[in-house]
Amino acid sequence: MINKKSTYYYDEKSLSYKEIKSNEIWGFTVFKYLMSSLIIASFITFLFISFVDSPKEKKLKREISNLELQYKSIQQQLVNTELVLDNIQQRDDNIYRMIFGIDPIDSSIRKAGFGGANRYKQYEGYSYSDLVIETRKNIDKLKKQLFIQSKSFDEVIDLAKNKAEMLASIPAIQPISNDNLNRMASGFGMRIDPIYKTKKFHYGMDFSAPIGTPIYATGNGVVEKIKRSRSKKDYGNYILINHGYDYQSFYAHLDKVLVSKGQKVNRGDLIGHVGNTGKSTAPHLHYEIRYKKQKINPVNFYHSDLTPEEYEQMLNIASQENQSFD
Ligand SMILES: [Zn+2]
Repeated sequence: MINKKSTYYYDEKSLSYKEIKSNEIWGFTVFKYLMSSLIIASFITFLFISFVDSPKEKKLKREISNLELQYKSIQQQLVNTELVLDNIQQRDDNIYRMIFGIDPIDSSIRKAGFGGANRYKQYEGYSYSDLVIETRKNIDKLKKQLFIQSKSFDEVIDLAKNKAEMLASIPAIQPISNDNLNRMASGFGMRIDPIYKTKKFHYGMDFSAPIGTPIYATGNGVVEKIKRSRSKKDYGNYILINHGYDYQSFYAHLDKVLVSKGQKVNRGDLIGHVGNTGKSTAPHLHYEIRYKKQKINPVNFYHSDLTPEEYEQMLNIASQENQSFD
């Protein structure tokens, strides 16, 4: 008998319809619903996980994007720092190094990077590796350039120190007080010999002044030689100062020598008194400048106490072919 409320299936062996037991149908239906809900639930969960972050993930993502922002800001600051350094490098090459006569640092040395690809290997394999490596590279480059720059400044500072010492050492003032330049009596060049009245080269400058007029060291240095002599020939009492840098100054016909050999003197120090000793026709100071042992014209070594006009005047007086005092 066929029950309308039952479900049947055709059995080929018995060639008849057979009833499917209702509990089987129920079990299948439950299974079907369970499976589909499971699939739907998994799908929803998958969607949720994929597109909706957990609070922890949200926090981490916020931190990462903040870090990324910070890195980019550091990159920008590095670029700005490099521009400042570039300006310092240019000034160093074109002003500081030039003043002291040293060659600029080759740009291939200044801008050289670091060799070796493995240097940044530890930063590879992360999503922000490029940013981190790029930043690292820029910092390393900057550090190296700063090191080179600092070395260059060391060199320049050393030279500047020497230059200051050099400028303090090379004779730059007149050996006696000579406000109106009226003590400048005879210059460097062909002059008439005061005794033989013939033309002779005068290797110094004569300052006419009363006996006892103070004589000052014209640059920093060390007293290399002194002589006390009663002879009426030659230079009489004299002082020779070694200023270093191949310069010497020489003060002759002195009445009194107030320094001793080996004594350190500074520009402006009192070293002796004007006199009339040696081959001298009147009280005067015979002053010489020697560079590499050659006697040179002292007229160019008063730049510290002459105005340009006074220098001009001094040149005029010094070039007059008058009689020297010797
Ligand atoms: Zn002279």
